[in-house]
Amino acid sequence: MKHSNPRARRYTARAVGVMTSIAFVGVAAGASFELDEHPGLPKAAAPAPVAPVMITATAAAPAKPMAFAFLDSLVGLSGKLRARFVATGSATLGIPILAQLFGDSALDIPGVHPLMDATRSFSLITMLPFSAKHAGRIGSYRIGNWPHEKHPSSSLEYANPNGFIEVTAQNESTYVSEHFRLSDFLTHDQQDTWPKYLVLNERLVDKLELVIEDLNAHGVHVEHLAVMSGFRTPEYNRRGVGEGGRARDSRHQYGDAADVYVDNNGSGRMNDLNHDGRVDSRDAKVIRDAVDRVEAAHPELVGGVGVYRGNSMHGPFAHVDARGVRARWGRS
Ligand SMILES: [Zn+2]
Repeated sequence: MKHSNPRARRYTARAVGVMTSIAFVGVAAGASFELDEHPGLPKAAAPAPVAPVMITATAAAPAKPMAFAFLDSLVGLSGKLRARFVATGSATLGIPILAQLFGDSALDIPGVHPLMDATRSFSLITMLPFSAKHAGRIGSYRIGNWPHEKHPSSSLEYANPNGFIEVTAQNESTYVSEHFRLSDFLTHDQQDTWPKYLVLNERLVDKLELVIEDLNAHGVHVEHLAVMSGFRTPEYNRRGVGEGGRARDSRHQYGDAADVYVDNNGSGRMNDLNHDGRVDSRDAKVIRDAVDRVEAAHPELVGGVGVYRGNSMHGPFAHVDARGVRARWGRS
């Protein structure tokens, strides 16, 4: 297990610290505003949130050349991240190494910058700054406004995103981790408008990879964890508030939430994970149990899980997020 390699763990901790300083919106302790992401559907009370464990950066003497040790440290707790996101013009610790790995202009030019040394698949994705959005759009792509954009929230987890990934028809298939691509997380609207813009938090992707790994380790075969809904622009989310089961403060707008189901056979619906001959919310609970175990092992990825049953529009699914405080809802 990854715990058996202290050096690797130090690299991970160090890199997460570094990347936090240049790219992440930090994990904020505090209550979440809204537990239920899909209030139109059945739910149960959630337990009180607990404060997350903060990751602290520690120094480690790399055994390999600095740049490669640093690269190894960017793959997340799962070891399966294949991309990291940074804000344009980030100017702090780690930049010379990033320039060495991804090219001098990587931090200045928004876009997907693959590793210079093509022996590994890994990309640095430089985001457009949040200020690139004007009157609720970038170019012709409609985004809308975040719930606390005009009146900033005191809670960091509801602060505006720190940037947008520009997704084009050419780069949408870029892997952000072993199992997920940029396109998996795009808002499902404006099909013919390019580029599109995406907010995505690496902690969510890391967590989903750990959930896949956990399920497979517990006898639930997962080849494909389908993302039914990942990022939702505030404009798209707003259209479903109240009736479509969307919360005004939905984590989907912050890029750290995904509605997922296991779909190994390409049916477009949840598979019978518990082998009881039915596909229902009990299968979504199998995913929730995996998230419980992942959070117990990695408290820094704590967040919400909601269990939902199917309806005429979709099969059962689990909402999973990495909001930084524990939240649970749905069928108990
Ligand atoms: Zn959701």
